[in-house]
Amino acid sequence: MAVRGGGDPPARRRCWVESANDPEGDFPLENLPFGLYEDDRQRRHTCLAIGDQVLDLQGCNVAGLLNVTQIVGLGPRGLGHMEPWRAREIRHRAAELLSDPEVRDRVEPHLIPQQDVKMLPPFGVGGIGDYTDFYASIHHATNVGRLFRPDTPLLPNYKWVPIGYHGRASSIVISGTEVRRPCGQTKPPEASTPMFGLSRMLDYELEVGFFIGEGSTLGDTIPLEQAEKHIFGLCLVNDWSARDIQAWEYQPLGPFLGKSFATTISPWVVTLEALEPYRVPAAKRAEGDPQPLLYLYSERDQERGGYDINLEVWLATAKMRTAGEAPVRVSRGNMKDLYWTLAQMVTHHASNGCNLRPGDLLATGTVSGATPDSVGSLLERTKRGAEPLMLPNGESRKFLEDGDEVILRGWCEREGYPRIGFGECRGIVGVTRV
Ligand code: CA
Repeated sequence: MAVRGGGDPPARRRCWVESANDPEGDFPLENLPFGLYEDDRQRRHTCLAIGDQVLDLQGCNVAGLLNVTQIVGLGPRGLGHMEPWRAREIRHRAAELLSDPEVRDRVEPHLIPQQDVKMLPPFGVGGIGDYTDFYASIHHATNVGRLFRPDTPLLPNYKWVPIGYHGRASSIVISGTEVRRPCGQTKPPEASTPMFGLSRMLDYELEVGFFIGEGSTLGDTIPLEQAEKHIFGLCLVNDWSARDIQAWEYQPLGPFLGKSFATTISPWVVTLEALEPYRVPAAKRAEGDPQPLLYLYSERDQERGGYDINLEVWLATAKMRTAGEAPVRVSRGNMKDLYWTLAQMVTHHASNGCNLRPGDLLATGTVSGATPDSVGSLLERTKRGAEPLMLPNGESRKFLEDGDEVILRGWCEREGYPRIGFGECRGIVGVTRV
């Protein structure tokens, strides 16, 4: 049994928002993830998710309910001005309000059904300054490497350095946004010259994102033991990938237009504080693997650096939706299998003096497990199209077709603790118009 953080389960408080007490729900009182919504007059409000409702924090603040020392980060720019410690204060106060029947009459006017609000990226539209994508799953790196280099799937640097690349922040979109199949330059193996046209190998990548809440100064580094205090919280990420464009362009500088056309994020940022009970040791390295270099190693991070988060990919084709059929699960994995911890990725990112800024999004890279049904991309699942995925209605997929909807889900469970979840990260591949 893995050692976990959090000590004995705390006594649970009942929330007067009844849907928050649903044992199968994502948003109990113990979660309270942050988000940003736009009302019907285009005003933006920082909010929390509770059950099937959102709690408007600006509204609560104006009504004198929040009772915290100083309010920043509640404006239209979203969470970009709210440090992680202040978010903790606001979550604690909100939990008091939502469990105290005495204040129900005063708080209730600031609840809106989730289905009635339009969620925006949590750090505001354009608020994500930089986006960095890592490659922290050794199973993913090995699976993908094996497709291209059967004899040496893992490159020699993998076990020493958290591999990553700078992604594109401008094309990050919120869950529910249609994603258009990109055009690009591709060169099938049998062709003598490349061509330009629609990608035929569109894929998803199941990832976990982590937002920077507290920045660092250019030239400074972030010691491993300080790394987590820079993280605001986590969300789900679908790093859409055009495999045919990627395969032709990626050498020698890495991913470019095969990735930058769209990245979808879920709207809710689940704080590290809420995730505390679901922490586990960092994944154990295999016998003979090197220990991380000193700047990436601490006993505490090895003991507590993992997160036990179940992660799933669901798929609904256009034909399934027309027939009224429910989405099917095509993958189930877990974040605890990652080779590198969140703290190691943050520390490595800043180890050359590169500054991180509030609202920067870092992502783990595709989260894949060791088994075929726990891989986080179709590239791995179908062995680059060689073994199509069979769906219950008789359809099959090598890669995504127009009209396919990809739904990512993530949640944590532990005996004695409530289930907490991330909500959904959805995207439909738009019907191509040429
Ligand atoms: Ca990726």
